[in-house]
Amino acid sequence: MVVVLAGGVGAARFLRGLTAVVPPEDITVVVNVGDDIELHGLRICPDLDSITYWLAGLVHPEQQWGRDDERFTVRDELVRLGHAPWFTLGDRDLALHLHRTAQLREGVPLSTVTADVAARHGLTLRLLPVTDDRIETRIHTADRRDLHFQEWWVGERAGPDVDRVEFRGADAARPAPGVVEAIRDAGTVIVAPSNPVVSVAPITAVPAVASALAATSACVVGVSPIVGGRVVRGMAHRLLPAVGSSVDAAGVAGWYGARRDGGLLDAWIVDATDVSSLEAVRGLGLAARAMDTLLDDPEVAAALARGVLELAEDAGRAP
Ligand code: GDP
Ligand code: CA
Repeated sequence: MVVVLAGGVGAARFLRGLTAVVPPEDITVVVNVGDDIELHGLRICPDLDSITYWLAGLVHPEQQWGRDDERFTVRDELVRLGHAPWFTLGDRDLALHLHRTAQLREGVPLSTVTADVAARHGLTLRLLPVTDDRIETRIHTADRRDLHFQEWWVGERAGPDVDRVEFRGADAARPAPGVVEAIRDAGTVIVAPSNPVVSVAPITAVPAVASALAATSACVVGVSPIVGGRVVRGMAHRLLPAVGSSVDAAGVAGWYGARRDGGLLDAWIVDATDVSSLEAVRGLGLAARAMDTLLDDPEVAAALARGVLELAEDAGRAP
């Protein structure tokens, strides 16, 4: 059994490869919910939905999130009603948010709704929100505002400097059913090439998840989301310095830390262009390997997934 800690698009691009080399029935994906937001009374779960759309083959190919063949009738009518549409909500996407919100209002847990939606999209891997409780990632800006992550990221395009990142509700959050057991019983735990600060950290901020990760006998292996000192997509470079990490492959590994020192990782994969950082990564006490990690091509994603599992096996054998 393989467990993947996942954000949205970076994780989805990796999972496309992993599902080609491991039977999806043997994969459990534990997904960030810190990005979730309520808009127009609807619960939006961007990371869960990105993964679902990608693996179902429904994702918008250029944008890489949201639905392909999307239309915006509802948004246009909302504009007529005086709304300023700062967050993209397409008609097809809205149907999922309507469905999910109605279920949640009836008391169905998010994990149950998510499993049902995933099955209806033909997914056979297990997709689990890290928790059924609410975690909200808040960005405290240098100009002293307290913004929902999406207000800062989408609304202000990650412009304002970041003073502090808060995972509101994480301390009291309980893992969704199956999360702790999956980590405990996993053969390998993979930290996807996701945003370390706002995709992976909100997952490990759930105390019982952190304990399970510390205790598992599985090798915990991560893939660097930073390639050649740059984020591949997104704006993680606006967040890493705020939490004290440099924007490079070894810097992020150091920020996650080695499990033997109380951190998250046993092993770390850097991009082939970052081969010079291997020494620094090994100096942190991690097993390390350089590979192609640019995941535009499904074949590369599959080769990377194989490499991740090989590195985990080697690291598991080392004394
Ligand atoms: P989001 O929640 O949709 O922003 O997605 P994630 O948190 O899962 O992923 C965002 C991160 O994935 C960014 O920091 C990117 O640098 C990284 N990323 C995206 N695509 C790739 C890729 O092809 N290779 C690698 N190594 N990282 C990627
Ligand atoms: Ca996200």
